[in-house]
Amino acid sequence: MTSSLNIRAALSLGAQLLNVSPSALLDCEVLLAYVLKKNRSYLRAWPDKTLRANEQSSFTALLMRRQTGEPVAHITGTREFWSRPFQVSPDVLIPRPETELLIEITQQKFQPHQPLNILDLGTGSGAIAITLALEFKQSKVIAIDASSAALTIAKKNAKQLGANNVDFIYSDWFTNAPNNTFDLIISNPPYICNTDPHLSAGDVRFEPSSALISEQQGLRDIKHIISYAPNFMCDDSYLLFEHGYQQGNDVQSLLKSAQFKAIEQFNDLQDHTRATLGRKPSS
Ligand code: GLN
Repeated sequence: MTSSLNIRAALSLGAQLLNVSPSALLDCEVLLAYVLKKNRSYLRAWPDKTLRANEQSSFTALLMRRQTGEPVAHITGTREFWSRPFQVSPDVLIPRPETELLIEITQQKFQPHQPLNILDLGTGSGAIAITLALEFKQSKVIAIDASSAALTIAKKNAKQLGANNVDFIYSDWFTNAPNNTFDLIISNPPYICNTDPHLSAGDVRFEPSSALISEQQGLRDIKHIISYAPNFMCDDSYLLFEHGYQQGNDVQSLLKSAQFKAIEQFNDLQDHTRATLGRKPSS
């Protein structure tokens, strides 16, 4: 980069450099804000501010990393979910905006002060479990993952964000789950088919395949959850999970065959069917 750029010029040059990324300007803003230790609104407020030489060279170095495809969230080590910063690393899925739908649905079904027992399966960074623990303060949340590296990150996030009503358990799905009956079992499981071309583009190339890929056309883990969840639910309690945007019909049939009731499906911001909710069959 040329010498003595201001913020506006640095962003515009950076965006040209990253033109392979569909979010080039946003990526540049996040990276420059990270270098300057400010938020993005600072960049908008002070576009004429000249960068120091060291700021410019740090920004250039981060742009080079981004150019190789490394996710912005891995470069900065953080990603916002439900307006809170979550620490992330290559050991966890980077929280996605569409997963916030699960939080919205939970808020539609329960009151903020209800003392819920919640189980989050495959917690990863802890984004879902910690957000629910903070939004439903009287609740007790149990978050499970089969990756100890993920649990280390999730625990750090819980501490950092002050969520002390969430416990973390190392478990392959329900294997070590406590014998509670939960009011809500929630999950963003792996659901991508291993031949899906999306796996060779964008951030997913840098994320753990255990958090992304599932056998049987992406449905194996969802089937497993549907078949075991009723053992851990009380009558009428809820099972809610995210799935692929083309899996809505399959997931609905699976829940119906397992006798789940009051099945509802929800669309994400792109208007794709992205989450399905069902209530436990009465025993
Ligand atoms: N929603 C993510 C994606 O499509 C995948 C997350 C998942 O498998 N749970 O990139």
